[in-house]
Amino acid sequence: MTDCIFCKIAAGEIPSDKIYEDDKVVAFRDIHPQAPVHFLVVPKEHIKSAADITPVNSDIVAHCFEVIAKLAVQKKLENGFRVINNCGENAGQTVPHIHFHVLAGKPLGETLV
Ligand code: AMP
Ligand code: ZN
Repeated sequence: MTDCIFCKIAAGEIPSDKIYEDDKVVAFRDIHPQAPVHFLVVPKEHIKSAADITPVNSDIVAHCFEVIAKLAVQKKLENGFRVINNCGENAGQTVPHIHFHVLAGKPLGETLV
């Protein structure tokens, strides 16, 4: 997608604070962190949201979670972390390219799951 900010970050066309990259996924620090550790795991393929996951593209979700587990070890998140996906308007999705927030570094509270 030519007009998508996360496609552009994935392609290296606009800068990001990248912490991981492979052929399918990129991870970078959120520009407005909501916890001491807050990064996004983003497939390079443009998929609009979790509502657009199908049997054809669902392998990318498994891969995202493999990357999250790897980064959790690397970032020493042994006290735990939260993975969040906002899907659609009511959930507050502001970037229409699927991504997983990973938050950690402090107790995150018991509200909102
Ligand atoms: P969401 O509201 O779930 O769609 O999350 C989008 C997230 O992307 C927000 O937490 C933003 O702070 C973050 N974000 C937007 N633009 C950038 C950027 N250029 N670099 C890093 N994070 C960004
Ligand atoms: Zn995109």
